[in-house]
Amino acid sequence: MAMSDKIEEKLYQNRYRVDEGCPHVRIDASKVPSEQLKAMVDICPAGCYVEGENGKVEVVPDGCMECGTCRIVCQETGELEWAYPRGGYGILFKFG
Ligand code: SF4
Repeated sequence: MAMSDKIEEKLYQNRYRVDEGCPHVRIDASKVPSEQLKAMVDICPAGCYVEGENGKVEVVPDGCMECGTCRIVCQETGELEWAYPRGGYGILFKFG
């Protein structure tokens, strides 16, 4: 099988076990989105963040790679609750 350089194709190799109703990344919707949070729409490598029509930023962490980028970028804004998924859930990396 030929190696591909496209990130979308590499991400497709990953598998996820979604913890329904228990997202491991949450946004405090009571706050006005900071520039850091808005930047996550472009920065998140898995495309988990979207900006809605109302200007609010939403996160759907089902395809999260647990890289921690959003946790670090938004560390000082206090808008994110971030934790690793419960055992047995989250990303399943395929090696080899
Ligand atoms: S941890 Fe990484 S992949 Fe997951 S939502 Fe944050 S930036 Fe995206």
